[in-house]
Amino acid sequence: MPRVSSGTDVNGTVAALLRDLAAVQKSQQSMWGYKRAAAAILALEEPLESLLQPDGTLRKIPNVGPSSLRVVMEVLQTGASPTVERAIAESGKRSDIDRRRDLREHFLSRSQVLAALKNRKLRGPTLADYHGDLQMHSVWSDGSQTLNDIVDAGIERGYQFCAVTDHSYGLAIAGGMSMSELAEQHREIDALNQRYEGRFRLIKGIEANIRADGSVDMERDELRELELVVAAPHSALRTEADQTARMVSAVRSPGVHILGHPRGRKYGSRPGVAADWDEVFAAARKANVAIEIDGDPSRQDVDYELAKRAVDAGCLFALDSDAHSTAELAYSETAIAHARLAGVPADRVVNCWPTDKLLTWLARSG
Ligand SMILES: [Zn+2]
Repeated sequence: MPRVSSGTDVNGTVAALLRDLAAVQKSQQSMWGYKRAAAAILALEEPLESLLQPDGTLRKIPNVGPSSLRVVMEVLQTGASPTVERAIAESGKRSDIDRRRDLREHFLSRSQVLAALKNRKLRGPTLADYHGDLQMHSVWSDGSQTLNDIVDAGIERGYQFCAVTDHSYGLAIAGGMSMSELAEQHREIDALNQRYEGRFRLIKGIEANIRADGSVDMERDELRELELVVAAPHSALRTEADQTARMVSAVRSPGVHILGHPRGRKYGSRPGVAADWDEVFAAARKANVAIEIDGDPSRQDVDYELAKRAVDAGCLFALDSDAHSTAELAYSETAIAHARLAGVPADRVVNCWPTDKLLTWLARSG
């Protein structure tokens, strides 16, 4: 009989154990096998316990082989996996594994995201409240979607607007855009907005980079060319040193609307910025800057726990996909799930505002 209590995220638990197992493999092939299985389980729409059949076996899951399945069954039956613990003990990598485990807190599996979206007891924005996505990347930087793809996919998802926020020139590694490329992109956006007037609005945005000193890597007059500025950290994400001053300075920078993936954490890999977040949120509230919940499954940043503190600070929120392809626009659902778990009031989510109200907020002098 399954011994897992309801409310536990079995999918998340199993996926984390499979990542642990991947990390102690000697062969690349088996490492990738366990990573693939972990990804498949994180992406499952149903909790693993619901895949149990009356004869006690599990329904087949694509990309999950027999040795991964053994871990699934152990967790369903006992809540833990002796197989994984044995492999870790034999590998001599216990401390590395413990460090990785600490870096998987407050991540939601896809099945938990769907459960949070459905759970009527939760306050917070629903899918129907959500009118558009304010962070995404296109072929103009490191994305694979064209601007036209974004309009088509946005309309299909029932959105009224999307902001295109390709990387700024400061982030050359992500194909950051020069100012002349930006001007060219804006001409394409203007043409699309003319064609879709009254139906859909593309917003001219940028994802600017927060430098080590907290300044934004674009000049003030360059920022004025944009309707929406997401400022986000992409460096110093593995240090424990306090970076409160950096983040406070970023939210106070003129022209910034959204603090994007505020910590810059990555699932099982890096902790991101360490800061006194209550102080950062208070500064953001004062500067009228929205705190982003980035819905990329490997980011989930800020998560529902940290988001609760931003709710208490009175902050506005932006719930974004950070999509690099149209399929990834669904990542906004992960952000909405975190907002619901944190009890973010829908009227404090800028994505839930009517287009006119959003544009007025964006046009504020800063
Ligand atoms: Zn970014």
